[in-house]
Amino acid sequence: MNILILGGGGREHALAWAFAQNPKCDRLFCAPGNAGIGEEATCVALDILDGGKLLEFVRENDVEFVMVGPEAPLAEGVADALRAGGVATFGPGREAARLEASKAFTKEICAASGAPTAASETFTDADAAHAYVAAKGAPIVVKADGLAAGKGVTVAESVAEAEAALDAIFAEGPGARVVIEEFMTGEEASLFVLADGEELLILGTAQDHKRAFDGDKGPNTGGMGAYSPAPVMTREVTERAIAEIVRPTLAEMVRRGTPYQGVLYVGLMIEAGAPRLVEYNVRFGDPEAQVLAMRLGAQLLDACLACATGALGEARANFADDHAMTVVIAANGYPGEVQRGEAIGLAEAADPRVKVFHAGTKTVDGELVSNGGRVLNATARAASLAEARALAYGAAQAVDWPGGFFRRDIGWRALARD
Ligand code: ATP
Repeated sequence: MNILILGGGGREHALAWAFAQNPKCDRLFCAPGNAGIGEEATCVALDILDGGKLLEFVRENDVEFVMVGPEAPLAEGVADALRAGGVATFGPGREAARLEASKAFTKEICAASGAPTAASETFTDADAAHAYVAAKGAPIVVKADGLAAGKGVTVAESVAEAEAALDAIFAEGPGARVVIEEFMTGEEASLFVLADGEELLILGTAQDHKRAFDGDKGPNTGGMGAYSPAPVMTREVTERAIAEIVRPTLAEMVRRGTPYQGVLYVGLMIEAGAPRLVEYNVRFGDPEAQVLAMRLGAQLLDACLACATGALGEARANFADDHAMTVVIAANGYPGEVQRGEAIGLAEAADPRVKVFHAGTKTVDGELVSNGGRVLNATARAASLAEARALAYGAAQAVDWPGGFFRRDIGWRALARD
């Protein structure tokens, strides 16, 4: 079948790489794609927020399956438009995508379904929000409602910091909404579940590294590296998260007449074996998709297709007893201003356990150049995390690009356990 992937980051390269290995995949398109994706798929310049234009492309090119990578088209209702046009599409409709697009909505779902999460209140009035912070004290967490690309959350260590965060959010003008919640302690990990109504399939667990620099220092980023599985996600913790958080959420979405279809990225805080929900995302994580795709390979397409076509009940994900790690190579200055258009020397890895996925790259006159903040993801899969780490770092070091940097301590938490 012909397949279209929407997106153009490392996540979409990993999806394209895994899908292309599956014999079910005939022609593979990606919009907009990037230089690395161009080696697996035909990159097409389409507006991925325009459902009508996408449907035209799908019809002209006999595309039978559309895989939506990022959250923006989902929040925009692109999956609804494609499904209404009769195309099997992976990803939730606009209403169910609110599980990521609105933190206040997720809190409402948790309250209705009994899923454990931080105690919280939602405010549209600045004075009431300030009074709540004054009453609760610090540490406290202030979150702008709505998609903020990971930049709308302040984990405030003092009341003054929380107040400054509130001022910044309410300065946006009328309509600003804020969720203020209890600070949770514990270890963070993510669980990835394919869901279709109340059917589900566990795809795996991962941990990422949000801060830019070693030792979890520096500004928050989209993610500087990840590994799978996450050791804190034991079988017991995973079962509790499914029973106490995921199933009640899916049931509540069905009850509301807006069943969830797609991957549910369940961000968890685990303390003393008890998981609590930090956040939902309605798409694969980037860079978590890279490690999941590395572990699942071609079967990722079978699972995603089953999810999008009402066949999830029969789907399986067969995991080897393996580990994967990805190290993000970013442009100097990231997550701030970066240079683009710098030449990158990259040789295809000879070792099948290693793959360098592309994020912000493009080809200019046949030469690979940087084209964004996060640029490459050196990824490896091996029998142990230590081995995967050695392979991933070997690949990162082999990249010839003086304008890039990467963290040297991806996986520290899991490796410290061993
Ligand atoms: P992301 O980029 O992860 O999608 P986001 O903007 O959707 O971020 P959250 O995931 O809700 O926001 O919060 C970002 C980070 O802030 C979390 O990964 C976690 O480290 C921290 N955090 C959020 N809520 C809490 C909480 N209640 N207690 C402690 N830490 C929290």
